[in-house]
Amino acid sequence: MKELGYYNGRIEELSEMMIPMNDRACWFGDGVYEAQLCRNYHIFTLDEHVDRLFRSAAMLEIKIPVTKDELKKLLNDLVQKMDDGDLMLYYQVTRGSGKRNHAFPKGPANLWVTLTPKSINPDTTPVSLITAEDTRFLHCNIKTLNLLPSVMANQKAISAGCYECVLYRPGERVTECSHSNVHIIRDGVLYTAPTDHLILAGIARAHLIAACKKLGIPVSETPFTLTDLRNADEIITTSSTAPCTRACQVDGVPAGMKREDLFMALHDEIFGEFMRDTQ
Ligand code: PLP
Repeated sequence: MKELGYYNGRIEELSEMMIPMNDRACWFGDGVYEAQLCRNYHIFTLDEHVDRLFRSAAMLEIKIPVTKDELKKLLNDLVQKMDDGDLMLYYQVTRGSGKRNHAFPKGPANLWVTLTPKSINPDTTPVSLITAEDTRFLHCNIKTLNLLPSVMANQKAISAGCYECVLYRPGERVTECSHSNVHIIRDGVLYTAPTDHLILAGIARAHLIAACKKLGIPVSETPFTLTDLRNADEIITTSSTAPCTRACQVDGVPAGMKREDLFMALHDEIFGEFMRDTQ
């Protein structure tokens, strides 16, 4: 298959897949999700993503209809059905089906999976960022389907010809980006926002921190501000699909790009791990 869709046991080419209108995703975006890469038919960091899916679901009292092991087996089996082993793996669990009613439905949750071709991009060309106030709710640690403020922020970045939109809360505290975490290097130290309710605890963020530890780069999980961002020696964004991206501009003004040595060491460590684990 080129693009696969899975829904509660049904498997079809994605473009042919039909989903019941009464799935809670349609009414309320009532569900949680994960997105990650697969290379050579090996799913990278599968355990970490499945663990986070279960944590997100638990925080919303969504009961995932399979065990962690069953889910991992299903995802690995689906990957084997694909024509190409370089893929984006997306899966979500929604809070069952029923008429539109805020009250939880009685039936089981629904499991969706999509597999689409995607290869990791090791390019180190720096990107441009814009900034915008973080108007999201206060449960950003939960990876829910409710992403409208993120969609709006991302579109703002695209319209400005930029890669990402850095979000900040009142007081100019940087939280994260529309679909990535953001970190800075200053005086040889990597600063990254703490994993509280204001950011998603990114898997790629955890691997960036691990890479820093391996390379002897000190890490401070403390909040930083827009001014810190603009004056940083390096600005790095991370996500599972773009695990180590360097920025050269914030709101049209040159920024970062002062510690190429550290950025390249981190980039090579992170991509090296990805390649080794997906051989
Ligand atoms: N922050 C937000 C808001 C995201 O949507 C994402 C990825 O989807 C991330 C951070 C990065 O998370 P991860 O590294 O687990 O892909």
